[in-house]
Amino acid sequence: MKLTPSPYIWFNGELVPWDKAQIHVLTHAMHYASSVFEGIRAYPTPKGTAVLGLDAHVTRLYQSCKIVHLPIPFPKDRIRDAILETVRENKHDACYIRPLVYRGYGALGVWPEDNPVEVAIAAFPWVKTNEKDLLEKGLSVGVSSWRRMAPDTLPSMAKVAGNYVNSALVIVEAKRHGYQEGLVLDVDGYVSEGSGQNVFLVHEGTLWTPPVGASILAGVTRAYVLQIARELGIETTEQRIPREMLAIADEAFFTGTVAEVTPIRSIDGQDVGSGARGPVTKRIQERFFGIARGQIDDVHGWLTPVRR
Ligand code: PMP
Repeated sequence: MKLTPSPYIWFNGELVPWDKAQIHVLTHAMHYASSVFEGIRAYPTPKGTAVLGLDAHVTRLYQSCKIVHLPIPFPKDRIRDAILETVRENKHDACYIRPLVYRGYGALGVWPEDNPVEVAIAAFPWVKTNEKDLLEKGLSVGVSSWRRMAPDTLPSMAKVAGNYVNSALVIVEAKRHGYQEGLVLDVDGYVSEGSGQNVFLVHEGTLWTPPVGASILAGVTRAYVLQIARELGIETTEQRIPREMLAIADEAFFTGTVAEVTPIRSIDGQDVGSGARGPVTKRIQERFFGIARGQIDDVHGWLTPVRR
């Protein structure tokens, strides 16, 4: 997705013009991937723009920072307000929001603590090409020859930049092989997730997704979809998924802030179920988008109004 500049970026405590939010090439994070980020979306609703999962994403941001020893120099409420302010002041109706916390400029060497911790929050439109097709027909996916990080190598529960070296290898390989996305197995060969999405399978009426112990990022959308499924009376299970279940699943889909709920139509060239979006996927999509767009009652308080 090509970036469309917006007027402002929140940078270390204040809104600055988009082009002024810059860093030095010797910034620690540029060399050692010492940055943590979030991806959040704001949706247009009948009552105005609202951020989906604001508290869940801010909580995960602080958890990621704690895992990789990156002390955010602002309290949680300040970051929460800054996210809303960034959307509001850029006058977005719908946008993607990217908070970023990183080790800045000062000293070079892996030891991070001689560098300041800096924070930026950007918000910009995220327009999907062929959105309708993607959401109705779904993606062709290939199982990657790369594995997710072993649990004692990198912290998959932290949304830390370094983990995305793995994601980039996965998506590049998938596209080179002619697929739209990659699906990665964990170090033991069980299904883990996509390059930047959690994965779900429907098998004999039950909704399956890998557990947090399968080297996944614990997605906010994943948690929402599990909740939605239970409310729709669909049985759910979070347990290890052997690779061969991909072949016999009736339906499969990805979830994520960018992916939302996107069907998977084929895996390694083999149709998933009938090769079209299945009925369970469709029901979950309808409820997810209904809540996100403010058309269905937000009983769980997942939406935070931006208020102009
Ligand atoms: N896994 C990875 C590796 C991701 O980057 C993302 C996107 N943040 C997800 C899963 C989905 O998480 P969420 O639903 O919170 O966007």
